[in-house]
Amino acid sequence: MVRVAYMSKMYAPTLKELPAEAEIASHKLSLRAGLIRKSASGIYSFLPLGYRVIKKIEDIVRDEMDAIGCQEVLLPIVQPAELWRESGRWDDYGPELARFNDRHEREFCLGPTHEEIITDMVKGEIRSYRNLPFTLYQINMKFRDEVRPRFGLLRGREFNMKDAYSFHTTQESLQEHYDQQAAAYGRICERLGLDYRPVDADSGQIGGDVSREFMALADAGEAELVYCDCGYGATTESLGEDFDPSIEHSCPKCGAPLKLVRGIEVSQVFQLGTKYSKVMGLTYQDENGVDQFPFMGCYGVGVSRSMAAVIEQSHDDDGIIWPVSIAPYQVMIIALSSDDEAFNYADSLAQQLVEKGVEIVVDDRDERAGVKFADADLLGFPLQVIVGKRGFEAGEIEVKIRKTGEKHVVALDDATTEIKQLLDRL
Ligand code: ATP
Ligand code: MG
Repeated sequence: MVRVAYMSKMYAPTLKELPAEAEIASHKLSLRAGLIRKSASGIYSFLPLGYRVIKKIEDIVRDEMDAIGCQEVLLPIVQPAELWRESGRWDDYGPELARFNDRHEREFCLGPTHEEIITDMVKGEIRSYRNLPFTLYQINMKFRDEVRPRFGLLRGREFNMKDAYSFHTTQESLQEHYDQQAAAYGRICERLGLDYRPVDADSGQIGGDVSREFMALADAGEAELVYCDCGYGATTESLGEDFDPSIEHSCPKCGAPLKLVRGIEVSQVFQLGTKYSKVMGLTYQDENGVDQFPFMGCYGVGVSRSMAAVIEQSHDDDGIIWPVSIAPYQVMIIALSSDDEAFNYADSLAQQLVEKGVEIVVDDRDERAGVKFADADLLGFPLQVIVGKRGFEAGEIEVKIRKTGEKHVVALDDATTEIKQLLDRL
């Protein structure tokens, strides 16, 4: 059940003094608006408003995964070293992999990604080609002991990721699902309101054109990419040393000049082929009863990084501008008058909107109007409804669209309908 939330009771501590390490807008605003707090370098707690955003992003991701037939699981964060030795990554991964021993001196690591765990989990369980293809996914915390955690949630050490793993009998089947994942990733970016480009990515040791990254365009992004309006895009990293991005280049697909920009990698799709199934001995029996290694794909979305990317693209000097899809609340009702009648009206309006499925916060705090307006802009809910004494007496309230600053005067009687309509149009 959806309930009205009240600012006077909400744990949403805003911050005025920012740490010097907060250099970019999304990091500053996540701290200022009380979305996150740091526990250690690259390790954050999510406060109520921040966690609401995370859950909404997770739900969008879940919806898109379920729509293409993926099934949700939950895999362990603590993983035994043996599996990583089997895959060879215990030695290859380097210091980014956080390792520890248990009380019996058995070796473990904290999962930075879950290929080993999932390959081992399905091993022995897929007996026949008839069991394939399938895709499992989870939304879970990952740990990578990044050499340079920075920019808040953009490059954390502990972070929230959706990771999916698919298993197939043929390369064609893998390709088909890989394309579905890529399409789902595009829809996820759109539903988050991101200005993004899908680009060809570095496929590492595997080789070939088997990886795409989804880049949210932002100057603060750590990646550099080129793209063309025809749809072509690539990270400059994937183009190798002889694609000097400072030289004017033309699109390999259509010949138009390429644009060079910076981006935040929010997600990546990857064809693994039989890399993990071979080294870890994952097999199924084909039509002739012969053992075969399944083809695999893996697909990751940075949930917490996506939250930062949205803020990075959508803010102004006063604060965050949330898209309706992931706003912690959609409407803030600012009760300016402590006059009982006006205040009761604000509250009953909130109740009516909640019944229509709108998520509402009422700012019922005993604060100056200026403080309330500044906090409303900082927290960035899409609509602000202002119930003041004078307006109320004249039978009116004011509705402000956070994104444009546009203000509408609305008659008290029409308020619920008008607010709902304005929200639908955003
Ligand atoms: P990067 O190149 O930025 O280090 P990656 O390519 O190593 O990222 P993947 O293994 O592809 O990351 O992980 C899938 C997704 O998880 C990434 O697209 C990104 O959104 C997110 N992610 C990866 N590393 C981090 C991190 N340190 N902090 C927050 N999110 C991360
Ligand atoms: Mg990646």
